[in-house]
Amino acid sequence: MENQNHYDYIICGGGASGLILAQMFGNDPYFENKQVLILEKEIKNQNDRTWCFWEAKNSVWNPITYKVWDSAEFKAAHFKKKIDLNPFQYKMIRGEDFYKKSYKNLEKKSNITFLVEEVLSVNDKGKKVHVLGKKNSYWAKKVFSSIPPSTHISKNEKYPLLHQHFIGWFVNTEHPIFDPETIQFMDFDLPQKGNTRFIYVLPFSKNKALIEYTLFSAELLEDKEYEEAILEYLNKKNAGKIFIEDREQGSIPMTAYPFWKNNTANIMHIGTAGGWTKSSTGYTFKKTIRKAKKTICFLKTGKPLNQMKQKNRFWFYDLLFLDVLNRHNEKGYLLFSIMFKKNNPELIFKFLDEKTTFLEELKIMLSFPVGLFVSALWKRMF
Ligand SMILES: Cc1cc2nc3c(=O)[nH]c(=O)nc-3n(C[C@H](O)[C@H](O)[C@H](O)COP(=O)(O)OP(=O)(O)OC[C@H]3O[C@@H](n4cnc5c(N)ncnc54)[C@H](O)[C@@H]3O)c2cc1C
Repeated sequence: MENQNHYDYIICGGGASGLILAQMFGNDPYFENKQVLILEKEIKNQNDRTWCFWEAKNSVWNPITYKVWDSAEFKAAHFKKKIDLNPFQYKMIRGEDFYKKSYKNLEKKSNITFLVEEVLSVNDKGKKVHVLGKKNSYWAKKVFSSIPPSTHISKNEKYPLLHQHFIGWFVNTEHPIFDPETIQFMDFDLPQKGNTRFIYVLPFSKNKALIEYTLFSAELLEDKEYEEAILEYLNKKNAGKIFIEDREQGSIPMTAYPFWKNNTANIMHIGTAGGWTKSSTGYTFKKTIRKAKKTICFLKTGKPLNQMKQKNRFWFYDLLFLDVLNRHNEKGYLLFSIMFKKNNPELIFKFLDEKTTFLEELKIMLSFPVGLFVSALWKRMF
């Protein structure tokens, strides 16, 4: 029985990162003789989230892309900017479509097995990793786990923990108040109440949109507070009667905590649990694709998983940014306003994708109030 439960690789958690990594295993001939097991606690057949990101027009995601936008607007109390996203587009993928497509791709791969199983523990035993599930025990040479970490991040004092937290409504409005071609990337023109608070709008037509009230802050709110803010926004826009078709809610950790320190020679944490979330923004989907590609390349070297280099200079920029945002949470609107006022949007998106040169990064950094960042740097160094 035990032999049946031995695999080359086990992926714990079949959400975004687990399914992306599994498909990379499946599409790479190098792994066609390797047995891969995905352990996921539930079949994912609901639209439990929508993923948005910017990328070039043509991409492998186009067949399941639900909506594409070519322009965006940034807004604060005394500043507004319409942004032409070219050469990028802002894209939305519905969770439901992503899971369906991923399951279909994986079904075709005879070396990849998907089991509904709740993982209770994962232990590196040296030569092999033991995965204890609720129903069974499993063994693998290497394990990749996207199971959310327990308490160690929140207890950590060295790395402040903020959250990108939000409630979103998919609404139909009586009056045509949306521009279907333009997303509201960030609208800070609302009471900040000592935090970084904004409205994010993804319009599907003149009467239909996903509206999210979002904060980058340490403390979560009561549901009521997010929902009242969405209502207030809609009333200000003269939406008329509204009909809420669906709702989404999230809290994404924003921290420079080095999640990879919990990796071992044979266990790697992936997805949000592995620090694959861009900590200064909460965006994860595209970074997960980049990180999964790097992980596949690294795996082929045969080196221990905890030797994979995870830190780069962007990690350090994010660390300083979070230090500033944590200490001056009420100044978030100002930092983002300055960034969009003084820099070319293409450069900003390239920077957030961690694809800029050092000189380009310097240009962006010098556009910020230097004092705040020098003080954060000083505190980190001494
Ligand atoms: C509502 C919402 C909207 C988001 N929107 C965006 C966006 O627009 N753009 C963006 O870039 N990012 C977005 N994110 C952030 C991020 O992309 C997602 O959270 C993404 O799903 C993270 O991928 P993951 O693999 O780390 O986690 P998940 O996708 O959550 O996968 C983890 C999986 O592990 C499973 N699991 C948990 N415990 C166990 C266990 N014990 N045993 C077995 N399985 C287990 C879960 O069921 C889940 O399927 C959003 C997040 C949320 C919550």
